[in-house]
Amino acid sequence: MKSLVFRGPWDLVIEDRPIREPQPGEALIRVHATGICGSDLHGYTGATGRRHPGQVMGHETVGHVAQLGSGTTGVAEGALVTVNPMLSCGDCSFCRSGHESACTSLRVIGVHPEPDAAFAEYLTVPVVSLVPLAPQMPADHGALVEPLAVGYHAVGRGEMTPADRVLVLGGGPIGQATALAARRLGAGDVCVSEPSARRRDLLATLGFVTTTPDAVGVAAAEILSGPPTLVFDAVGASGTLTTALTVAAPLARIVLIGMAEPDLTVPSYAISTRERSIIGTFGYSSADFRASAVWAAEAPEDLDALIERTEPLTAGPEIFRALADHSLDAHKILLSPAG
Ligand SMILES: [Zn+2]
Ligand SMILES: [Zn+2]
Repeated sequence: MKSLVFRGPWDLVIEDRPIREPQPGEALIRVHATGICGSDLHGYTGATGRRHPGQVMGHETVGHVAQLGSGTTGVAEGALVTVNPMLSCGDCSFCRSGHESACTSLRVIGVHPEPDAAFAEYLTVPVVSLVPLAPQMPADHGALVEPLAVGYHAVGRGEMTPADRVLVLGGGPIGQATALAARRLGAGDVCVSEPSARRRDLLATLGFVTTTPDAVGVAAAEILSGPPTLVFDAVGASGTLTTALTVAAPLARIVLIGMAEPDLTVPSYAISTRERSIIGTFGYSSADFRASAVWAAEAPEDLDALIERTEPLTAGPEIFRALADHSLDAHKILLSPAG
């Protein structure tokens, strides 16, 4: 089968790799499409070191069950499914309390090098990682469940209430997912700050009020009728977290989602003296992931706008290069082995 292999920074190639036979408890998935995530791009350039030479990336995927391991039940052959890429043990104290993203032996499909990943024609995964999708759902939308789940989990981590004034910093796919989840979960106005005009247009299409990073302090307070009480940093850089701490109300919660920089420098007194909280969030629980799959089937209009287009898997090397060197400015692009 065709696989898109990461050989090192800025070096992706299509290779022929063997299909792994599903063992009992596993399913072979024929990939329909897989989304390119910002974390894949950061891994591709070597910026984060969170991808390993020789591995296949791809964790936002949708496909059909092609074959089940012997004696395996729980899903039907031919079913449209997405894959929860967080391979948690199911047994540690975090897993047992529904905090699978904190699992002590967590591995993530497309991040860790060992598990099969989704920039390929097929991948073999545990059946417990499959989430069946409504058959009438546009298949491409299944690839959005993973990023949507990240936003959904982040809003839960922020313990949002309808009284919160919500600001999202960064309007890329995760900022979009966070804003959508906040609205879905009852937020009034949600303001999103984003430097790219193209992304602001998309957010406006989705019904969000936007501003730019240089104007965010004044604009957010005006749009939200007061300083934000809940801020989501979907970028994760010193600049954005500093902005969050500068514009947020006293006692605000600031949820750190983005992972743009491994070390952050922030004005610490803005945390201590105004009693603001910084809350980490990562991934999602399996309950969040399943809830996001149900939700994705209910809001097709929103989801159509999130996908820029689908490209053939074989175009992966050039698409990654163009996205990473910024010669291509695009919303979510999916790669499809069929295309
Ligand atoms: Zn991702
Ligand atoms: Zn665990």
